[in-house]
Amino acid sequence: MAAASASPVLVNGLSVDVEDWFQVGAFENVIDRADWDSLALRVDRNVERVLALFADAQVHATFFTLGWVAQRQPSVIRKIVAAGHELASHGYDHARVFTFNRSQFAEDIRVAREILEDCSGTPVTGYRAPSFSIDHRTPWAFEELAKQGYAYSSSVAPVVHDHYGWPSAPRFSFKPVEGSDLIEIPVTTAMLRGKRVAAGGGGFFRVLPYGFSRWAIRQVNGRDRRPAVFYFHPWEVDPTQPRVAQATMRSKLRHYTNLDKMAGKLTNLLDEFRWGRMDQLAAREADLAVEMAA
Ligand SMILES: [Zn+2]
Repeated sequence: MAAASASPVLVNGLSVDVEDWFQVGAFENVIDRADWDSLALRVDRNVERVLALFADAQVHATFFTLGWVAQRQPSVIRKIVAAGHELASHGYDHARVFTFNRSQFAEDIRVAREILEDCSGTPVTGYRAPSFSIDHRTPWAFEELAKQGYAYSSSVAPVVHDHYGWPSAPRFSFKPVEGSDLIEIPVTTAMLRGKRVAAGGGGFFRVLPYGFSRWAIRQVNGRDRRPAVFYFHPWEVDPTQPRVAQATMRSKLRHYTNLDKMAGKLTNLLDEFRWGRMDQLAAREADLAVEMAA
């Protein structure tokens, strides 16, 4: 790639939030954490499917993983690392950051990291909050991540959404703690008729036509000249997962639509754009990140 090219091909950040089918935020009120151990784990075989897709596309990614999952499925965690991907933290058991006080959050990220590092033998320097739950209510979260020596976080959705969001946060990388190199890399939004729209994956990627994501990432890479940050979950490539009967109609629609099309859509996405690990993206973004005390 020529350095002088008018539109250099940007390497975008590819990420997987490693949690099982019953651990998603949308089911939080219908499946009790106390019952998790009685449910059938599918995360290992689903991560293996994801690893196969990535191997076929010859891309590397970051796997933001729950400590709870690593405790129960250590062998698949080691496969992630052995394949050259980054292992990072998604907290211990998917409790959202704004449900903690500062000391509870400190303990959650410390415990999750210890489990992940012990299990993989690799340092963990990245963090993604469950359900993008760092927002204006939790300014201490970034201070705690900086204090514990994390290099980066990708925990903010700078958009209005029914489950999460911090609409006034910067759309691109920022340094949330004065005097610290900690960098926050928000999940991707695009601009549509003057409004920010979520465009970094999850249900939007699966439910909407592929063309929407193509348009959004082209806008970010082309007009904004910034890398996109995309995420999905292992359960999204698992069409035969158990159905949660008690969930709301809205949650069911969001969770189960197009599961059978996900692998094909991902293959398109991986082929069409360039992708890499989040820690490498964070290193490239360090000089571009704006200073912003949360
Ligand atoms: Zn999650």
